[in-house]
Amino acid sequence: MGFSSLGLASGLVQALAGQGYQEPTPVQQAAIPMILSGKDIMAGAQTGTGKTAAFALPILQLLSKNKTSRDESAGEENIPSPGALVLTPTRELAQQVHASFEKYGSGLALDSRLAYGGVSINPQVEAFKAGIDILVATPGRLLDHLAKGSLTLSQLQFLVFDEADRMLDMGFIDDIKRILKRLPEQRQTMLFSATFDAATVGLSKKLLNQPEMIQV
Ligand code: AMP
Repeated sequence: MGFSSLGLASGLVQALAGQGYQEPTPVQQAAIPMILSGKDIMAGAQTGTGKTAAFALPILQLLSKNKTSRDESAGEENIPSPGALVLTPTRELAQQVHASFEKYGSGLALDSRLAYGGVSINPQVEAFKAGIDILVATPGRLLDHLAKGSLTLSQLQFLVFDEADRMLDMGFIDDIKRILKRLPEQRQTMLFSATFDAATVGLSKKLLNQPEMIQV
């Protein structure tokens, strides 16, 4: 089964062929059609299974379809607002996920930006002003940006929790709750986690609307 049979547009399929990807991995086979059809998902997938492409590819496709309408509706007080937000527990994972969006979306006019702590905030603020379709962020620095007003989440359509179990293990639950208060109710949410302990299942119940379950 090739990538095009999952519903991905030819531009993305070509970018994947250029990367040497021939076949979708199991998590990609399951997740890509579900995300394209608008479903919330809860996926049990370890690093190395191809989970990043499983959410990045359909999000790129859906965002590129409706970019024009977002550009027109954005601009409330001209505060940048991404269409997609990926939350990660660490800076390293944020960098990897951002690099994947850039790689797969190289043929699309979509901007991916990074927000993580431990570095100066101003270059991130400047980058948002130049355009932001996708934001890959760690929770604390995202809250800093929201408090500072460099960003709003009012235009958000897609929310991904990557390595949700690790985010909870690292004590991010209060930050996550604060972020959730700033999100539109109407959105599509995807939660990826290596394990599903009680805390992760608890978070998923708060976040997800009739999710499809995927286990690979
Ligand atoms: P991840 O699980 O997202 O960390 O991805 C693990 C690695 O697999 C990354 O280096 C990806 O570039 C690679 N990868 C993802 N999907 C595919 C695929 N369908 N075929 C070949 N390699 C892939």
